[in-house]
Amino acid sequence: ETEERIAKVIARAGIASRRDAEALIEEGRVTLNGEVLTSPAINVGPEARITVDGIPLPERDRTRLWLYHKPRGLVTTARDPEGRPTVFEHLTEDMPRVISIGRLDINTEGLLLLTNDGGLARVIAHPDTGWLRRYKVRAHGDVTQADLDKLSAGITIDGIEYGPVEARLDRVQGDNAWLTLGLREGKNREVKRILEHIGLSVNRLIRLSFGPFQLGDLEAGLTEEIKTKVL
Ligand code: URA
Repeated sequence: ETEERIAKVIARAGIASRRDAEALIEEGRVTLNGEVLTSPAINVGPEARITVDGIPLPERDRTRLWLYHKPRGLVTTARDPEGRPTVFEHLTEDMPRVISIGRLDINTEGLLLLTNDGGLARVIAHPDTGWLRRYKVRAHGDVTQADLDKLSAGITIDGIEYGPVEARLDRVQGDNAWLTLGLREGKNREVKRILEHIGLSVNRLIRLSFGPFQLGDLEAGLTEEIKTKVL
């Protein structure tokens, strides 16, 4: 794990702002592993024992990660300006405060990762991480193999470049097609945009997997904690 400025660690524990934490250190009110500190210019790791005015910092919760089966009709933002229901209001009562790793649109279903660690969320959602996202899609319109081949080459729509998309037609059901797609980025409304580009209108979108994690048979609305180390 990474080291951080000690004032930042004190600030995150909710004791003082980062600047006030620096002042506390300069006033000799902070100890690190039993020694009084005189300068805030020091980095500490997760094992550091820190006190402020003789009182140990509350322990930081360890990083935790959950699979969540997002149902339709919930937004993935913490607070929606339009007042629509959010994922976070609908989690089961045993869940602590979490954030989502990336987002799904209101009507998208399926796998959303949740964590209590903002740093982990940023790393996983970052484009460089390049985790594969697999989706099952129902879309209205006719699909040709030539259309799907276009997607695998990567396309540009309104100046936005979309990377190669693996696309497979699974079956046709009336006027709809069921497809499986695999993408390695998470751009805004990506699946809908690229399918619109080949004349298809998405009416159901389910994320099946994200990196090493699978939705499996997790029930809609429920979470399942991942106990293994991820990164
Ligand atoms: N692509 C979309 O269009 N929407 C999502 O929610 C996820 C991927």
